[in-house]
Amino acid sequence: MNSYKTPMGELQIEVFGHAAVLFTINGKKIYLDPYSEVCSFAGKAPADLILITHNHYDHYDREAFSKIATKNTLFIVGSDVPKVNDHYQVLHNEDACDYEGIHIKAIAAYNVNNLKPDGEPFHPRGVGNGYILYLDGFTVYIAGDTEFIPEMKAITYPDIAFLPKNLPYTMSDEEFIQAANFIKPKYLYPYHYFDLDVAKLRKFLDLGITLVEK
Ligand code: ZN
Ligand code: ZN
Repeated sequence: MNSYKTPMGELQIEVFGHAAVLFTINGKKIYLDPYSEVCSFAGKAPADLILITHNHYDHYDREAFSKIATKNTLFIVGSDVPKVNDHYQVLHNEDACDYEGIHIKAIAAYNVNNLKPDGEPFHPRGVGNGYILYLDGFTVYIAGDTEFIPEMKAITYPDIAFLPKNLPYTMSDEEFIQAANFIKPKYLYPYHYFDLDVAKLRKFLDLGITLVEK
């Protein structure tokens, strides 16, 4: 668990593995893509908000929701995610909303280089989301299942960025480094990876970017 000072108070980040993360701020529990393969979530704190990037099984996992969602949990989801409960809000790419003083913006997330054998992208443009959380001037960018895309121009210098790294679904090490050096987050969390060569990544990351292993 890591803590960061923000103008809204202390932000705690707990990384479970794959794309599953818990953000805690002002007592609010905000889960990202909880996935029961990496954590059972039984006994974890009830979710106030669950962010889902897209409907792939490693991001949209009803088993995980059943452990942390209550009747009051709000779901904010990508456009391909089926209705989960009554407190359910779809954000399309570029849509935004406010939750408990946090401004949440949906950012595009898609493949440009890595395609399925039939030529279709694993993640087509305009479907899944990444998210930016604006905590009163402190910015957290969660990229979702994406490659290095032009939309990242709008996201330079976040305080924290989560960037995915695995082939063929998201980015290679080289593309990950390219994206990270372009965005220049203060703290960089690689996520959604199968393997992680921290020494290699650190060698190529620009000065000023702190790679956080977990
Ligand atoms: Zn996916
Ligand atoms: Zn995925």
